[in-house]
Amino acid sequence: MTKQPSLKDQFASVQPGDVGIIGDPVEHSLSPLMQNAAFKIWRGAFKDREKPAPTYHRFLVKSDQLKEAIDLMKFHKIRGLNVTVPHKMDVYQFVDEMTPFVQRTRAINTLTYDGTKLSGQNTDAEGFKKALAYDMDYNAEGKTALVLGAGGTGVVLANALLDLSAEKVYVWNRSAQKLEALMKTAEAKSGKIVGIQSTDEVANAVKESQMIVNATSVGLKEGDGMPAEGLAFSPRHFVFDVVYHRETAFLAEAKKVRAKTSNGLGMLVYQGAKSFEIWTGSPAPTEVMFHAISQAK
Ligand code: NAP
Repeated sequence: MTKQPSLKDQFASVQPGDVGIIGDPVEHSLSPLMQNAAFKIWRGAFKDREKPAPTYHRFLVKSDQLKEAIDLMKFHKIRGLNVTVPHKMDVYQFVDEMTPFVQRTRAINTLTYDGTKLSGQNTDAEGFKKALAYDMDYNAEGKTALVLGAGGTGVVLANALLDLSAEKVYVWNRSAQKLEALMKTAEAKSGKIVGIQSTDEVANAVKESQMIVNATSVGLKEGDGMPAEGLAFSPRHFVFDVVYHRETAFLAEAKKVRAKTSNGLGMLVYQGAKSFEIWTGSPAPTEVMFHAISQAK
């Protein structure tokens, strides 16, 4: 097995103003491909700039290396970082300022450093909403949904659905800890978000829901099965998986019964476009980003 380079070595080639993504795993991420294509175009629009276009890097950061990664970000004057599995809820403790949506969900997928302050934002909700509206023409208003996973993505998607006027969102999680935190939120106290854990509760929520979302990390690895038991899909369901780089068992099962389905590719591009806009202050070349992703092997 090849030895994992130290964090210092991973950050060694970074230039001030560069950007990147931190996560574990992170090898599968298509963000470097689409962001570097976008930054190339952006640089092209400012040919007289002295500095080269920022490079978007990929950093494999274990949970116990998160603080070191944030310190290195500041030391190297990195402009921004996307944050993916499993760090979205954990970077909260390091930011100096955050948006109201982050205050509500505690989940951050976009960090911006201006040389003094570290800001935390979340672009996953916008990415998800745009993917539903533009790519799937799906209106969540008045619908009941089941979201699998109460991690940094599940909590955000449940809240995004409420912002889209969904009637109720069931959130299932394998273990109790994340659900306990979720059940203390205002949305759960009002009954709009309902935390569930047993297979019977999943089966009942599936019957009641029009939309079912996998926001767990199940499906990231080759050979992964279903995220939960009790998922009896029917053709009236819209089934959405945040995983985008392979056909998951979750979507394959939904397709068997001819349910409407979507993977997380559109969401990936729209959330990345919003992060690009936050870091550059310029509109993102979304078509270039979609094209770059379509070239992925
Ligand atoms: P996270 O905060 O680490 O949460 C992971 C979630 O997955 C937790 O709810 C965890 O449950 C659950 N889980 C892990 N292994 C499981 C298993 N074997 N069975 C059932 N549940 C399991 O991660 P995250 O940041 O929310 O990311 C989740 C997924 O969303 C990742 O695949 C990520 O790549 C994807 N994502 C995609 C996009 C996109 O644009 N398409 C955007 C954001 C995220 P426990 O609490 O029980 O451990």
